[in-house]
Amino acid sequence: MTSVDLKQQKFISAREIEAAVIGGATEVIVDSRATLEEDARDLLAKHAIAVRFTGAIEEQKTPEPSPKTTNSPRVASSFYSQTALDIKNEICSVGRKLWLRGFVDGNGGNISYRVGEDEVICTPTLFSKYDLTPDDLCIIDLSGNQLAGRLQPTSEVQLHLEVYKNVPQAKAVVHCHSPYATACAICGHVPPMSVSSEFDVFIGRVALAPYETPGTVEFAETVRPYVKHHNAILLANHGVMCWADTPTHAEWYVENLETFCKTFMIARQFGIPYSRISPEKAEALKAARKRYGLPDCNSDDSPTPSLS
Ligand SMILES: [Zn+2]
Repeated sequence: MTSVDLKQQKFISAREIEAAVIGGATEVIVDSRATLEEDARDLLAKHAIAVRFTGAIEEQKTPEPSPKTTNSPRVASSFYSQTALDIKNEICSVGRKLWLRGFVDGNGGNISYRVGEDEVICTPTLFSKYDLTPDDLCIIDLSGNQLAGRLQPTSEVQLHLEVYKNVPQAKAVVHCHSPYATACAICGHVPPMSVSSEFDVFIGRVALAPYETPGTVEFAETVRPYVKHHNAILLANHGVMCWADTPTHAEWYVENLETFCKTFMIARQFGIPYSRISPEKAEALKAARKRYGLPDCNSDDSPTPSLS
């Protein structure tokens, strides 16, 4: 085999290949970032000259982040035990549900679960929720420091931590960009109460948090006034966030919120007045919400503009 080394060339034209042919080349070595002119490709094919790409592929590879490991038995048990694996599997399953329903675009959305007093398992940054495996998840403390895990935590993790720091009963948080609820969040519309029994029980009066740049501390702080009283919050010009006792239930609330926003928009298309649940019957729904242990979203007076 006669090799001709062209790996210093950034642009390879027919001229270089002709010279290689004259030199009796059976192989050319090419930098994988180099551009091969079409005529050059034709000549290589015509003379059955092999192309060996070299060097740059390795250089171009994004280095794998070094895995964060832990020496703490407490963290190890929270992150590597069978219980932790069950939670990780549930988070992955929730991720796929969100993706299949079109609630998480690109690498959008994030899911977390509080496994200990100061430990939270969460999804990694820049990762499609459809592709998640248990090995992709990480564990952080309530200050946002990564304790273990191969990948870096989501950049919106502070939003989740704001919930855990302020609501003791919150164990799981789901944040996503479901289209109908996000459309409401963009327009500053909060879906009305006393229209759907399911919505009144499981979601109740929704809060609307003001816009801040995603991933910042200021963004996370926008939900602070609402998290105690609302298990579902619209994030202006961004998306939604729900918390619950499990990742599955938090995902259910996202579904409840999204479906009602969609249904209500459809109902409005008829252009006729919609009926309301009477105040007496609405009280029964509030009582049911209380029985389920959901926060009393009717007790505070956070600003909630309504579609009605
Ligand atoms: Zn987001």
